[in-house]
Amino acid sequence: MDCEVKVSLTVKWNGKEYEVNDLSGNDSVGTLKANIYKLTGVRPERQKLLNLKYKGKMPEDDCQLSVLNLRAGAKIMMMGSLEEAIADASSRPDGVPEVLDDFDIDDGEEVAIENRHVYLDKIDKRIRTYNIEMLSEPRPGKKLLVLDIDYTLFDHRSSAETGVELMRPYLHEFLTSSYAFYDIVIWSATSMKWIEEKMKLLGVSTHPDYKILFYMDHLAMISVHTPKYGLAEVKPLGVIWGKFPQYTPKNTIMLDDIRRNFLMNPACGLRIAPFRNAHTNRATDRELLKLAKYLREIAALDDFGALNHRKWEHWLHRLHKERKEARRRAARATDADDDDSYTADADA
Ligand SMILES: [Mg+2]
Repeated sequence: MDCEVKVSLTVKWNGKEYEVNDLSGNDSVGTLKANIYKLTGVRPERQKLLNLKYKGKMPEDDCQLSVLNLRAGAKIMMMGSLEEAIADASSRPDGVPEVLDDFDIDDGEEVAIENRHVYLDKIDKRIRTYNIEMLSEPRPGKKLLVLDIDYTLFDHRSSAETGVELMRPYLHEFLTSSYAFYDIVIWSATSMKWIEEKMKLLGVSTHPDYKILFYMDHLAMISVHTPKYGLAEVKPLGVIWGKFPQYTPKNTIMLDDIRRNFLMNPACGLRIAPFRNAHTNRATDRELLKLAKYLREIAALDDFGALNHRKWEHWLHRLHKERKEARRRAARATDADDDDSYTADADA
């Protein structure tokens, strides 16, 4: 890159894009960070510019922009937190649930929306026009698992040296276990570029033990109007079902930390506890491990329709209790048999 050439970049952070235009190839990565600080308020030492690479590594602050091979208009994904956000997160009292952009919905409202023809028309349009790029092929007899990314598989707001630090614990174990029974789709309310970037970062796109069927981005979503909450963007599973008739409400489950995303298909959605504050919660978060168990167990059912995913933990708990009880009964029966045989032997 010519050193005098103007460098124009887009920095994506916290779901928003920021244009950085007044730099040239002579400027350093440090200057770029200072400019990002002006735009976002994230201090340079807290900024992690994920896809800014020099010789495969994050460049030092004195590295010149001209050596980085940046395309004009390149997009850079930033992770990093504001000082106030960090102070806020670390001062939050224990046990107080964090509510940011989720809202709960009552059952009556879900049904009312689901049957609205205008939304079915929108879904039809997505089925016809939304282009899906297959990453692998559907496998006969597999059920369908649809996964959100942010706060479901990945804490996208904390700062870290590498994306992997922000990965939800047991992600690869979860995907490997689920892949035995489910074709897996990733659906995130962001653009395809970021989905691909994040999946690469987490090592999902290249993992040897499972394959993702395809990714879906915000363009496959539709906006619906709810009387109570106004306009909301949701992820209608009908788009997938329309394109792939082997997947139906009977064999599809969707995991998302925002219940609103299930508004069109409430019965197929399981709201996962959000994974936030990765540095604090990484040591104890076992959500994916537990859900892998649930997904394995329900995979034996012909129809998910009888399940209430809101009670998934309760369901799992009851199943284990029943099994334990059955084992105890079987052991008792065996003991009784042993007694009989002992008596018989003694008689003989
Ligand atoms: Mg999410």
